[in-house]
Amino acid sequence: MRKTKIITTLGPASSKAKKIGKMIDMGLDIVRLNMSHAPHDWVREVVATVREQADKRGKIVGVLLDTQGPEIRTGNLPAELNLEPGEKFTFTVRGETSEELHSVDVNYENFINDISVDDVIMVDSGEIHMKVLAKFDNKVECEILTPGKLGSRRHINLPGVKVSLPPITDKDRADIALGIELEVDFIALSFVREAGDIKMLRELLAEHSHKPAIIAKIEDQQAVKNFDEIVAVADGIMVARGDLGIECPYEELPIIQRRLVKTCLRLGRPVIVATHMLESMIESPMPTRAEITDVANAVFEETDAIMLSGESAVGQYPVKCVEVLDRIARRTERSGGADYHKLAEFVDPREKLANSAVVLADQLKADAVLLFTNTGTMARYVSWQRPRYSPIYAACSDAKVAASLTLNWGVRPFQMDFDEGHPDTTIDRALQKLITEGKLEAGNSIIIITGIKVGDQVVGSIQSRIV
Ligand code: PEP
Repeated sequence: MRKTKIITTLGPASSKAKKIGKMIDMGLDIVRLNMSHAPHDWVREVVATVREQADKRGKIVGVLLDTQGPEIRTGNLPAELNLEPGEKFTFTVRGETSEELHSVDVNYENFINDISVDDVIMVDSGEIHMKVLAKFDNKVECEILTPGKLGSRRHINLPGVKVSLPPITDKDRADIALGIELEVDFIALSFVREAGDIKMLRELLAEHSHKPAIIAKIEDQQAVKNFDEIVAVADGIMVARGDLGIECPYEELPIIQRRLVKTCLRLGRPVIVATHMLESMIESPMPTRAEITDVANAVFEETDAIMLSGESAVGQYPVKCVEVLDRIARRTERSGGADYHKLAEFVDPREKLANSAVVLADQLKADAVLLFTNTGTMARYVSWQRPRYSPIYAACSDAKVAASLTLNWGVRPFQMDFDEGHPDTTIDRALQKLITEGKLEAGNSIIIITGIKVGDQVVGSIQSRIV
């Protein structure tokens, strides 16, 4: 069984029921909806399709809504512009027009105040570089440094510049409201810069009974600098390498990825490694050797999840991409991992209980760990300790809790009713279910973690059993 989870971004190439069904069969764990490109009607339809296809197969698939965040974009152009190094280019704001043949409007007025002469502006996901020559009230004049073709509504990055856009835009608020309406399991906040951004989203969610987990997307230098305070308040982290690779010098990217994953594993925070994992497979049915090695590296680091973006949203081989991630992950997991979780320092007694259970499971090479959870916490603690051999079956009393565990490394969640006064009946019910589904068989050794009631107290217990 694969431990590393697979997240698949849905888009025109992958939103039909048949494609989604095939990707679920191939092992996807979570679908991602990228709100930079997803109209609300489409999101409603596709979430219903995902849930229908998952239900049909008796599987749980998580839904992650990824906000656009404070993103700067160029405006519309009547036709694509061919840009050559040395040429001049003008960005305009507030409806200013330019005599310059090469010019485009920007969706963010303060752009002019945030940047300085000599700064480098990266356009179209870092494809085109321009140097700021001069600033005026309503326009910025630049020199083109690298050649490229500029189309409409392209993404602008300002590496190292502290952008004064609000952390949650009006568009994000509308998208988050949609996420709450559809009871998505995760909301990813883009361009998080400090812990306060996460707290702001948490306050927004506090008003609602359904509270998706908050994933902080780390995608610029400020987020990297403030990572310790961000990871302390977020429910999970995404290493958003698309923007991170533009906002930071690219040679820093592998080091940043490793540092973020290592910190998450020290603290027990789920982490996603995202973007360009199989970029060449947008057009090719085979990954490159470098991509295979990159995916294997993330799996070796024991990240909770690996993510497909354009490959599954607009690429020609979305199902094949899931298969490729699945094959690389399974093989790499068999050869062992980086063990960063061994740096963990436990505070909560339940964390220590989970750790003891995993030590025992590893020593016995147990066929499975089975645990019972109302809130998901014990499942997260056990996952954090990365059991070497044993899949983690998490029996959840609540279906939404089960869906929230689709992100956690090694956890196979399922919903079942607990018999509150009778833990033995509950355990037997779970074992029966796992045997019927072929996940366990007679003779398997398992570690069971449960809370048993002694008087008024719930006492954590670990049992080692042969099925
Ligand atoms: C990224 O930059 O890697 C990322 C996941 O963000 P987005 O695709 O939303 O720009």
